[in-house]
Amino acid sequence: MSVESRKIRLVMDLRNAGVIDTKVLAAIERVPREQFVAEAFLDQAYANQALPISCGQTISQPLVVGLMTQALDISDRQKVLEVGTGSGYQAAILSKLARRVYTVERHRDLLLEAERRFTALGIHNITTMVGDGYKGWPAQAPFERILVTAAARIVPEDLVAQLSEEGGVMVIPVGDAGGLNQEVIRVQKDGKQFKSERLFPVRFVPLVQGVPETRA
Ligand code: SAH
Repeated sequence: MSVESRKIRLVMDLRNAGVIDTKVLAAIERVPREQFVAEAFLDQAYANQALPISCGQTISQPLVVGLMTQALDISDRQKVLEVGTGSGYQAAILSKLARRVYTVERHRDLLLEAERRFTALGIHNITTMVGDGYKGWPAQAPFERILVTAAARIVPEDLVAQLSEEGGVMVIPVGDAGGLNQEVIRVQKDGKQFKSERLFPVRFVPLVQGVPETRA
């Protein structure tokens, strides 16, 4: 089966599984996932599953990318912060929906690879930083939308603080580091108040505090 027909089948599967926002489906159609996976997994680029990437991390399952992106309800005037760049796939999806994407990754090697992909694909509205996403990106705050793509034990206070007081929305997996008992939480902020709701169960790699030491 060709890449194109595999992709069409994946998009149909996502729609059947609840990703009904046509802008989100169009973004998934426009971003070539095969360019974000390792060569060994090329034939699985359009399977609905998470795949390993460098540094012991994973590119998220397309369904989870679709559902979390849909839950964010992004408009093209908004500034979005992503925590956990990984392969850069989710950031590329966000770049099709938002005005500007800021993405933070603690592994420099992953970030460099992701940056190369953005350049190769002609994506110019993503700004990247090596850093500890627990702390967000204070210099660029507030953000209308925040998406965390690694599981936190609790919702980090710094991220809530960097969410816009005018209807800011954050989508974040919360739960055990081991991958069990995690669920996606949506936080909606209105003024200084915020409310949280539980969306669906997931399995993510943990959000790890701090940045690994760079090799000599
Ligand atoms: N969004 C990615 C998948 C992310 S996997 C994609 O589309 O491919 C989770 C990523 O979060 C990993 O790359 C991991 O290194 C990163 N991460 C974990 N803790 C972090 C932290 N505190 N700050 C920034 N990145 C973090």
